[in-house]
Amino acid sequence: MSLLELKNISKSYISKVGSFQVIDKLNLTLEHNQNIFLFGPSGCGKSTLLNLISGLDNLDTGEIYFNGNLVKHHFELLKDDIGIIFQDHYLISELNIFDNIKLKSNDTTKIENILDYFEMTDFKLKYPNQLSNGQKQRVCVARSLVNNPKLLIADEPTSYLDKENAKLVIDLILNSSRKFNLSTIIASHDISFRPLFDKSYTLDNKSIKEC
Ligand code: ADP
Ligand code: MG
Repeated sequence: MSLLELKNISKSYISKVGSFQVIDKLNLTLEHNQNIFLFGPSGCGKSTLLNLISGLDNLDTGEIYFNGNLVKHHFELLKDDIGIIFQDHYLISELNIFDNIKLKSNDTTKIENILDYFEMTDFKLKYPNQLSNGQKQRVCVARSLVNNPKLLIADEPTSYLDKENAKLVIDLILNSSRKFNLSTIIASHDISFRPLFDKSYTLDNKSIKEC
């Protein structure tokens, strides 16, 4: 059974000038332990698609199946089954690193373990402004994985990083995917990462195609 199936999903945005369709009857299947690269120029709909998958936005029509079950209450998946990383780190500046991760889990042993795995135990009492951008994004990867999700969604996680740190973060995500048996969908406009993934797709003409 596939981890994720999108069946004929569509999404339009309504504005003063009318309705603007971004995604039209899109189908996609993601297998367990599969890493997908989502590539395409700014405005093609990558964030829209990822937000529909994660449940941050609602479908107009279509269905999403997770582990074979029709998804009805998306927020339940967000708690444990889906981890998300954004372009910006969204760490809370008033909380130290440990407490930032604690926002996602009250299980202190899990937090200690994930910090240990990411070699960040020394940072746990530091505050976000004491870390580099690359370190902050590492904390975000750790936070997104603390509840052992089955799917990790990352929307342009490297766009604020230099090339070296960008590669480190992509490697970290892909190594974590192998270690923790999770599938990933990573959106980026940097095509140089494409060979690292099992499959790559682009959004074209409101739909998705393998590339
Ligand atoms: P990408 O992530 O590939 O840059 P987006 O998914 O952010 O693309 O945007 C796809 C299209 O949908 C763009 O034309 C964008 O202007 C439009 N769009 C995105 N979000 C909204 C919104 N909340 N309201 C209206 N239009 C939107
Ligand atoms: Mg985007």
